[in-house]
Amino acid sequence: MKKIDKSLLPDDYNTNKDEDGFYAEFYEDGQLSHYGFYSDGELDDRWAIYLEPDGNGAFVQRTVTVDFAVEEEKDSNNGHHPELTPEEEEEYEEFVTHWVSRIHEDGSAITPRCSFCEKTSVEVRKLIAGPTTCICDECVAFCQEILSEETAENEDD
Ligand SMILES: [Zn+2]
Repeated sequence: MKKIDKSLLPDDYNTNKDEDGFYAEFYEDGQLSHYGFYSDGELDDRWAIYLEPDGNGAFVQRTVTVDFAVEEEKDSNNGHHPELTPEEEEEYEEFVTHWVSRIHEDGSAITPRCSFCEKTSVEVRKLIAGPTTCICDECVAFCQEILSEETAENEDD
């Protein structure tokens, strides 16, 4: 069984989840166990891959927060038997390679953040994007508060 190890990964990954960016986890024998893009110690709404030990299968998953609902998307290639045929082995490696590069492409794109408080879409309920900036629902609420206070003060004059 051909081992899926770090040689399959682009080399700009961390092994510490708390560092923002690509994160990779390995089994003791060096086989890849998990790869994904982390920010603030957590996976955001991007794809991540999880591998069973000994090349026994892999699945990818992403959780997307859309307004107030959570949607999950999945894809998998499960061997679930120790001896894969050469075709299955090749298929498995292609599956992992495909998803690793997809995750890399996806993660290389800039994460949209609120221009005021720097939170990402997973940290707030809604992130509204303008042509060059973004604002989150929390900052909108805060601005509304300021504006209504000012209006109230002006009315007092
Ligand atoms: Zn904000």
